Amino acid sequence: MIIDDQLYDVIIIGTGAGGGTLVRKLAPTGLKILVLDRGDFQEKESSELVDLEVFKREQYHAPESWTDEAGEPFYPQTNYGVGGNTKTWYGVLMRMRDRDFEAVQHQNGISPEWELKAADFEPYYTEAEKLYQVHGKTGDDPTEPSHREDYPFPEIAHEPFPIQSISETLAEQNLHPFYLPLGLGDQGRTDSEDSGVTPALKYENVTLKTSAQVLWLHTNPSGSEIKGVQAKVGDQYYLFLSHIVVVACGAINSAALLLKSANEKHPNGIANGSGMVGRNLMKQQLSVVVQLMASQNSGLFPRTLGVNDFYWGDKDFAYPMGHIQNSGGILRDVLFSEAPPIFSAIKSLLPNFGLRQLATRSIGWWLQTEDLPDPDNRVRFVGDKLRVEYKVNNFEAHDRLVYRWIDVLKNVEAARPSIFSRNAHPRSDMPISVVAHQAGTCRFGSDPTQSVLNLNCRAHEVNNLYVVDSSFFPSSSSVSPGLTVIANALRVGDHLIQRFKG
Ligand SMILES: Cc1cc2nc3c(=O)[nH]c(=O)nc-3n(C[C@H](O)[C@H](O)[C@H](O)COP(=O)(O)OP(=O)(O)OC[C@H]3O[C@@H](n4cnc5c(N)ncnc54)[C@H](O)[C@@H]3O)c2cc1C
Repeated sequence: MIIDDQLYDVIIIGTGAGGGTLVRKLAPTGLKILVLDRGDFQEKESSELVDLEVFKREQYHAPESWTDEAGEPFYPQTNYGVGGNTKTWYGVLMRMRDRDFEAVQHQNGISPEWELKAADFEPYYTEAEKLYQVHGKTGDDPTEPSHREDYPFPEIAHEPFPIQSISETLAEQNLHPFYLPLGLGDQGRTDSEDSGVTPALKYENVTLKTSAQVLWLHTNPSGSEIKGVQAKVGDQYYLFLSHIVVVACGAINSAALLLKSANEKHPNGIANGSGMVGRNLMKQQLSVVVQLMASQNSGLFPRTLGVNDFYWGDKDFAYPMGHIQNSGGILRDVLFSEAPPIFSAIKSLLPNFGLRQLATRSIGWWLQTEDLPDPDNRVRFVGDKLRVEYKVNNFEAHDRLVYRWIDVLKNVEAARPSIFSRNAHPRSDMPISVVAHQAGTCRFGSDPTQSVLNLNCRAHEVNNLYVVDSSFFPSSSSVSPGLTVIANALRVGDHLIQRFKG
């Protein structure tokens, strides 16, 4: 093993929404920073049918298998590369609702309170929206959280046909469609490579090593600090040394790294005296519902339309249900290709059409519902195999959202019969391999028996170890997690800057 002769101030492991943002925040401080990512640089995927076919061949699945509760292997849909999962995301960058930070009664239980509130995150959400160039419009969304400032860029217009027509029809039904906040730059969707890593690398105090998979964290003999970060860089094994170590591998892989690094002082995994590392995995319930059109659309338009009228419930259901957004043109939709049953369902309704025609005659809607933290939903090792044990909860709320939305779509179709061809709405739920919205395996809090990280996202038990990705979430909310991961990285960045100032 090669022992690197540098002593870094900070090592950041992972360059996704968390790690990529944090290095951007710390770069101007002059701190000596090493960034390690197991993946390499990747092209931003273009958005043609060819990619839909590529996604079906699982290009953006990890080159490794995990196992489910029954021990069956699956290939997770998660991206290893500079930018992590932000390389394949849609760039819908939403703040959690103000009430999401409070304890909320759901039909299946309580979504726990965060010890930091919407007001604590607000300045960092504003900073995050600037950094990721979020385009949006306040005022239309009935669940809009407090904004100190408006979005830094104006909203992206809907595709005139069919999304603008649908938006108008929804408003006629007394719903409140709104423009989804979207991160968009010169090169298309912003991601943590172009908003984070690339500008950080302009500073000579920042070094990035790609194809650098971190395998173990080593502590000092007392277990109070991480002393060494062991990684396989290309074909060589290295040991890197640093004052501060930040794990930002994504919720599942961060927990896996801590568990795998167990030693005499941390026999159940690093920082796992509470037994909470890997537990309370959440990944939201995601379903897609399809509407069939009478004529073709481009298949290439962005996600722009959101509906939150049922976020907190409905007239006959007093519990939160969730968030709805259009899928964007289906030729652009990575997750769509994760729902093969839906293609067979559409095919059976339009038997004479090929893949491209099916996709361009369809509009997809994504429905997402908060899942509740459950200690039995967890990541752990069985032998050397990573196992993801996850049972869906809060499903009635999600089903209600789906059926309520199908009713709305039927009304839209009745109001605009020339646009739609058939009153059929195939639906598909996401398999275990879709871990896009993974969160919560190392939650933060002030009680070391119930949480892994303190409120600065520093491990309760290890003085120089931080976890700065989606792991810290105590609850998942029903909006996509990306902007909260980014805002939190900026917040922890401020804390680290203060820590180095002493
Ligand atoms: C298809 C898709 C669409 C999505 N769309 C949206 C959206 O529109 N809006 C939204 O808010 N969210 C979206 N998400 C979710 C969003 O991408 C994630 O919430 C976010 O990227 C999480 O950031 P992270 O830092 O936790 O982890 P990641 O972004 O997953 O980054 C983890 C990084 O760690 C690296 N890594 C892992 N293990 C190791 C190791 N052992 N050693 C070294 N490096 C390691 C990986 O290569 C990766 O770069 C989407 C996700 C997917 C998959």
